[in-house]
Amino acid sequence: MTPDINFGFGLSKSSRINLDNADNEKFRELAAREPDILKCMACGSCAASCSAGNFTELNLRKIILMLTRGAEKETVRQLESCMFCGKCILVCPRGINTRHLIKSIREIYCRPCAEPETGNGI
Ligand code: SF4
Ligand code: SF4
Repeated sequence: MTPDINFGFGLSKSSRINLDNADNEKFRELAAREPDILKCMACGSCAASCSAGNFTELNLRKIILMLTRGAEKETVRQLESCMFCGKCILVCPRGINTRHLIKSIREIYCRPCAEPETGNGI
């Protein structure tokens, strides 16, 4: 029997996505606004350096990957944990302005969570 070893990371559950049926309309809108997203090579440097990633599910690499597959429902809510600290910009080898990208993703995919706080519903 293999002993349980905590390596500090885990494997994602297997998933199956039918790309022929994927709805990529929002991703096309995002890519038109943020063409640098097409440069992402899914290296994971942003996720590894993320200030919120240690405490939440936030994983920008995974979010970008899922958006390219039209599967935003599973991941885009993770962006509510983003603190806009900008560490991910510093480490991205492709020079993507990830903070600006996150803002655009929130505006396009998560319009309610992108709206500014009005305070006490006023
Ligand atoms: S800006 Fe957001 S995604 Fe980037 S390192 Fe900071 S908390 Fe993480
Ligand atoms: S660091 Fe840049 S290239 Fe690497 S996964 Fe993040 S956004 Fe993509």
